[in-house]
Amino acid sequence: MFNNNEGLYINGSWFPAHNQATFDSENPATGKVVGVVPEATPQQIEDAVQAAHKARISWGKIPGPERAQYLQLASKEFEHSKDEIINLLIAETGSTFGKAMFELDFTVQFLKAASADYRFGNGEVFPSEDGTLSYTTRRPLGVVVCISPWNVPLILSMKKIVGALIAGNTVILKPSEESSLIAMKIAQVFAAINLPPGVFNLVTGHGDVGQALIAHPLTKAVSFTGSTATGKKIAAQAGGLLKKCILELGGKDAVIILQDIDIDFAVNATIFSGLFHQGQTCMSAERILVESSIADKFIEKLVQKAKSLKMGDPSDHSVEIGPMMSKRQLQIVEDHVDDAKKNGAQILCGGETTNGIFYPPTVLTGVTRNMKVFRDETFGPLLPVLTFDTLDEAIEMANDSEYGLSGGVLTDNLEKAFYITNQLDTGMVHIGNGSVLDDPIDCAFGGIKNSGMGRESGKHSYETLTELKWITVHHQKPVFPF
Ligand code: NDP
Repeated sequence: MFNNNEGLYINGSWFPAHNQATFDSENPATGKVVGVVPEATPQQIEDAVQAAHKARISWGKIPGPERAQYLQLASKEFEHSKDEIINLLIAETGSTFGKAMFELDFTVQFLKAASADYRFGNGEVFPSEDGTLSYTTRRPLGVVVCISPWNVPLILSMKKIVGALIAGNTVILKPSEESSLIAMKIAQVFAAINLPPGVFNLVTGHGDVGQALIAHPLTKAVSFTGSTATGKKIAAQAGGLLKKCILELGGKDAVIILQDIDIDFAVNATIFSGLFHQGQTCMSAERILVESSIADKFIEKLVQKAKSLKMGDPSDHSVEIGPMMSKRQLQIVEDHVDDAKKNGAQILCGGETTNGIFYPPTVLTGVTRNMKVFRDETFGPLLPVLTFDTLDEAIEMANDSEYGLSGGVLTDNLEKAFYITNQLDTGMVHIGNGSVLDDPIDCAFGGIKNSGMGRESGKHSYETLTELKWITVHHQKPVFPF
């Protein structure tokens, strides 16, 4: 898949590890090495920034439709490499076959749709009393640093990269060290379509690569998806340097289930939103709030379905629940379950690590608000169920969180649905669906409170990753007071 010379991708060329400084990327399900990743040296980071800085002038001047053509070509190249990418997502990040397919298909659709986003480059014309032409234009920022996570590495890297490129910026991708091979595959795609040198650059490594990129005076913005703790550090660093940020951070999403809904549908929606990629997504359903009158029936069916899912190495394509990404992620899940048990919660299924790195879908009841499963991001396959009697109680419980990313409201009663959604403190909420949803065509993806700042996709990325310029043209000579 990668030859020995492939590693970092800077200024249109590949650079292997310097002095053999590498780290292994391992298959989370088997522990086997999937590939070797170079650690970028400070000089290579500098080279990447200089290359992106230089390329920004010509790339920013290329007409939008031409930039769009590159994205269309990339979309075809991803389709062409479909099997290879799906296998890599399974091997490197423990994705199930379904999740890997979803990532690939979404990326292909997203590239096609986002290639038209250059149209958001129009400005506005202001009214003028004296015939002065007063208007705005949008200009690219320059070099954008994209720091992408390991959980949905293809989509979340490509959303950042494409949002920056179509607006005329150049990019340096710094992937999570746990999904660097996917990032190398992205570089291969851009190399294959002959994207001009320096427009896309990849630096891999860990320790302080991200920080060094943000600190560099020639980088102008950062787009980050990851933990709230790291996001706050990035916001502080970028803020101090007056660089723009888009931050997609953690979540503790609630799915609210009302008594009128078809229970089987509610169970399926909850299972998908809670267990997609083993619950390792920012918009995972981490608190299941169900109306008391249907709670017993709902919980019984939820447990039944959770127990029926096939768990194992996702190289078997029929597997529905893969491994946890790392021991570190597993330990968070174990810690949250221990804390819940100690404080009186009941575990109705799951609750124990299997084969070292697998954690089964786990339904918890008797959950109270002081527990970690209610308060802290788990990022795992836990379904803590709580009950409510009134809509106001459900809303208050859902909003009792430092996070505010997504949410789901499962009811066929639109009046009640709007009453709830209008009052939820989240950046996104879905009626008739769970909390896990994204749209390759267009949307406004992002959260409030500790879930982040800014919105990703379409015109929202475009506006953040460009600068407005106000221009006036005076037909009559202005009269000055002195
Ligand atoms: P982090 O949030 O710590 O992000 C790691 C990435 O950020 C690395 O690429 C790292 O690069 C970079 N980074 C770290 N510190 C800085 C800094 N000060 N400035 C610039 N870049 C920096 O993610 P983890 O993988 O450690 O995951 C921890 C938790 O984050 C998970 O348990 C989960 O709760 C959450 N998470 C949330 C995701 C989401 O979708 N919102 C996705 C993944 C994880 P370098 O090493 O070079 O500094």
